Amino acid sequence: MRFLILSDIHGNIDALDAVLARAPRDSYDRLLVLGDLVGYGGTPNEVVDRIFELSPDVIIRGNHDKVATGIESADKFNRVAAEAARWTQDTLSPENRKRVAGLPAGPKNADKDVEVCHGTPFDEDSYVFDEDDASRALESASRQVCFFGHTHVPVAYVLKGSEVTVTRPQPGGAETTVVNIIKKDRYLINPGSIGQPRDTDPRASYATYDSKKRRVEIRRVPYRIDLAQQRITESGLPESLAFRLGIGR
Ligand code: ZN
Repeated sequence: MRFLILSDIHGNIDALDAVLARAPRDSYDRLLVLGDLVGYGGTPNEVVDRIFELSPDVIIRGNHDKVATGIESADKFNRVAAEAARWTQDTLSPENRKRVAGLPAGPKNADKDVEVCHGTPFDEDSYVFDEDDASRALESASRQVCFFGHTHVPVAYVLKGSEVTVTRPQPGGAETTVVNIIKKDRYLINPGSIGQPRDTDPRASYATYDSKKRRVEIRRVPYRIDLAQQRITESGLPESLAFRLGIGR
């Protein structure tokens, strides 16, 4: 089974289309989407349309999907994120607002070995920033390989016995980072963010998993950041959201 794993698209159609050009429909069997389709970016409707056209096999919501559809208040958001959520709520078409509001909470199983969550398996809104967080999240995972998002930083945590080790793609480095899945180990893997990477590498980030080859690849794709920035500026969203795309923060 070949999986395509997409996370944290954040209303950035330029980044999403660059990834989909690199990963066309015949290159994978199952599509997994880990939430935060919208928020921050200037093209939320385009992203929701594109993702629903692809009929993902598993799709879950992120925290921005909840706030931008009024399911949750913006209390925990900073000023810029709250402003973007408000703009997104006003901009989404009624149909797309309904689609995003209807996304289920994670975690969800994708097959007997793979599950997905937005933050962690035990809480969709918790962040995994380090080995301690990863170890708690791995304890609550029900599958050998768990894909998560939320931090916008691509990384692979591997539980070998009782020890957690980390593999981080080098920012600005190779387009592909390989993680080999070994039978007796457990994995917590973030494909990185498509629409707003935060590891200082501005390239869009996603992952693939070939369960027959037992191989995960975290991949980076350059895209027209200038266009995505222009759409943000022209729509009246905060300028800082355009700026950060250029530096990957
Ligand atoms: Zn996000």
